[in-house]
Amino acid sequence: MDLHLTADQANAEEKAAVDSELGAPRSGWSGGDRNMEADAHVAYDGHQARAERHRLLPALHAIQSRIGWISPGAINYVSARLSIAPAEVYGVASFYGMFSLSPKPPVVAHVCDDIACVARGSESLCGELEKKLGPAGSPCMGGRATWQRTACLGLCERAPAALVSAAGKKPAERVLAPASAGPLQSLIKDATEGRLPGEPDALEAQRSVPQAGSSQLRLLRRVASTNATEINDYQKHGGYEALRKAMDLGPEGVIREVAASRLLGRGGAAFPTAKKWEALHTQRHLGKKHYVICNADESEPGTFKDRILMEGDPFAVIEGMTIAGLATGAQKGFIYLRGEYPLAAERIAHAIAAARNSGMLGTNIMGRGLQFDIELRRGAGAYICGEETALFNSIEGYRGEPRNKPPFPTQAGLFRQPTAVNNVETLVNVPQIILEGGAAYAKIGTENSAGTRLFCLSGHVNRPGVYETAMGTTLRQMIEMAGGVGGNGKLQAVLLGGAAGAFVAPAELDTPLTFEGMRAIGATLGSGVVMLFDDSVDLKQVLLRISSFFRHETCGQCVPCRIGVVRQDEALHRLVQGKANGSAGAEVSCVREMGQAMRDASICGLGQTASSAIESALQRWKLFG
Ligand code: SF4
Repeated sequence: MDLHLTADQANAEEKAAVDSELGAPRSGWSGGDRNMEADAHVAYDGHQARAERHRLLPALHAIQSRIGWISPGAINYVSARLSIAPAEVYGVASFYGMFSLSPKPPVVAHVCDDIACVARGSESLCGELEKKLGPAGSPCMGGRATWQRTACLGLCERAPAALVSAAGKKPAERVLAPASAGPLQSLIKDATEGRLPGEPDALEAQRSVPQAGSSQLRLLRRVASTNATEINDYQKHGGYEALRKAMDLGPEGVIREVAASRLLGRGGAAFPTAKKWEALHTQRHLGKKHYVICNADESEPGTFKDRILMEGDPFAVIEGMTIAGLATGAQKGFIYLRGEYPLAAERIAHAIAAARNSGMLGTNIMGRGLQFDIELRRGAGAYICGEETALFNSIEGYRGEPRNKPPFPTQAGLFRQPTAVNNVETLVNVPQIILEGGAAYAKIGTENSAGTRLFCLSGHVNRPGVYETAMGTTLRQMIEMAGGVGGNGKLQAVLLGGAAGAFVAPAELDTPLTFEGMRAIGATLGSGVVMLFDDSVDLKQVLLRISSFFRHETCGQCVPCRIGVVRQDEALHRLVQGKANGSAGAEVSCVREMGQAMRDASICGLGQTASSAIESALQRWKLFG
């Protein structure tokens, strides 16, 4: 980074990008044209900084999508507009993978080389691109484009996947999945000629949801069978009946039904939803603002179920959040959406606007005095922002670093106010629970794992996609639902729960997919990942991909994780290369000890689970030595 940051000025395009997000500077304001260093005492007013800081991430998105990178001048302009020191803005911008702080061509093709895409041929795709376009990161198409490898894009059911983004006055993003070199090259060329369609690809529902249309579906029942952009169609198919009933029940009644349902969070932590809501409800007389956040930052490699819900049934997410607002006393909600989901962003933004226009969000919902509104915030490529306190910091305009707990979010969450964070799938369960009653819902599934669950089948399976099934279905039945083992048909391993989950062996296929069933074999349901590997896959290479993922995604805030993920990655590389420190057995023991230290001493779930999948593989197979 240029150390003469304070002397750089934004150009007209950069200013226009920021002003389009923040609004025109107030009359008489000239901060953007002045010497920032000289005016620091004027610009960085503490009170104003606190008030405006939460607009930082949207402003950085605006620059990135218009210019293609964020220059020192643009950083200075944002810092002056929001009264935040330039170093702070730089610190935030440099935290997120989707922001570039060095010049880049306006068109970038992101090609996923994560584990599900590798199982479906992304390495040969990258090889072909290298031949056609040059090495990853180098300019191509006359300097107007480039391509680069990227971590999971959340398109695993259509692997191998690519996302082409084109910066400009009318920025556009388009997914190509499954991707092959020829069509991807054409798409990149179209993008450089301004012909990349503004509208992202429509949901290929039949491919992504093989069960679409089945009368057995609950969470997925409207996906692909209703028009996801029409609120009237949503209402014709039962939409907003639950909210109407929730208003009759009142907050206590809603919490009672959700408690009776025994709904546990579907994002990975499996915390009882009713307990969170109750904690906010009991603080309603303290005069604090309450917030509801929909955590839509599903970044776990192999997870894509929340994307499918948001693309295919966005009003259900809005309705679930509104009921959460009613129960918790929150009048404001945020949807924090993964940055790599352009179609979901468009669908959710449209649904929020349509709900407002129809009186389903706002100050007097359904004419019954309920006040609740939702703001959409896009993440920017940081896996750690799925951790709830990191997510708060991200919305507030800080680096997405987790906070120490306690205080817990229900006491001091977003803007240090009581906050309930729920995952997309969790919220989509809520209207069902209200309509049929918590007790009836609790009869689905098993004693300790109530309801249905979405699973993301990918890798070597014949029909990859999102599947809905009652909790208690075995892993074997789940794979059969998805058409059986694909690839060469000889199953070697299944990764459950994603990179933070665990590998299981073919001998464990009769384990029920429940919280308790998974605990019994040392695995986790996590975010619903079920990724299959046939016996042609080199599991050692998969472990390396996982360790490098965590090495890249650690926020670096606490020592056990910051050091541990690096040492873990280095040790695995040595083992794979046959260059272990001492014997292979001693190096493996060292990896396992480091994993234990990370589990015991890391601040947040990332460090605590960064060794889980690796440990599970080392337990089950003798991979080294
Ligand atoms: Fe950051 Fe890792 Fe510590 Fe979590 S465990 S706070 S990701 S360094």
